[in-house]
Amino acid sequence: MSKNKKREIPNWNLPIIETHCHLDYLKQDSLENILAKSREVGVEKIITIAVEPENLNSVLELARAHGNIYCTQGLHPHEGKLYTDEVEALILENLKDENVVAVGEIGLDFHYNNSPEKEQKDAFERQLQIACDYNKPIVVHTREADEDTKAILKNFSNSLKRKGVIHSFTSSTWLAEFCLEEGFSIGFNGIITFNSAQNVRDVLSITPLERILVETDAPFLTPIPFRGRENAPFYLPFIIEKIAEVKDCSIEQVLEKTYFNSKNLFDI
Ligand SMILES: [Zn+2]
Repeated sequence: MSKNKKREIPNWNLPIIETHCHLDYLKQDSLENILAKSREVGVEKIITIAVEPENLNSVLELARAHGNIYCTQGLHPHEGKLYTDEVEALILENLKDENVVAVGEIGLDFHYNNSPEKEQKDAFERQLQIACDYNKPIVVHTREADEDTKAILKNFSNSLKRKGVIHSFTSSTWLAEFCLEEGFSIGFNGIITFNSAQNVRDVLSITPLERILVETDAPFLTPIPFRGRENAPFYLPFIIEKIAEVKDCSIEQVLEKTYFNSKNLFDI
């Protein structure tokens, strides 16, 4: 078999919840084909994530149009500079819809600094306050901002009743330990299949199964063996396989726990 031979996508006939993707950014195929292929490998529910003012409405429309799709409302730290009272008003209006299951993705990204740090922090704090006021869990993006993420989350920790998930975790082990102590879950995606990501597998090792969520972050971060192609929720089985390997447990355990964890956190 050649090294690059693509494997079939495993199918265990057990339900999977995709907790983080960007369906409105997928281009390789029609949405209906992507959803059908995802269903075939067991993906039962999908949470599609808002990131920018322009897609607050479009993710909600997607969720309204499909019984098994849910969405979030929030601005990504890259867009912190675009967080205005008008944007906040739209987030608050959309949050009334039962298809919206979380505030996100919100957080800090000091790697790219697409928005100035001050504006990222302001947007993060204002959206955390919304999650507290509306009793929603949060979906957090944090990159190269460990100290500030910890400080800000700590400030909201008591008022945040439903906690949330630190998605696509690539930060330090100490930040993971802090988040776990505070009651947050951690989202793992295709990064755990990358050879270079031993630090992320180390975080996975210390994360109890009860706190693990699975996600693809599609269209980004396609897992091995499909790197190079556009990512999609139907690649989730490769992430589940890797979690079972790193946690040294059965595939069924990973499927059952992560399904339960996702249902529980997002109340879906
Ligand atoms: Zn994302």
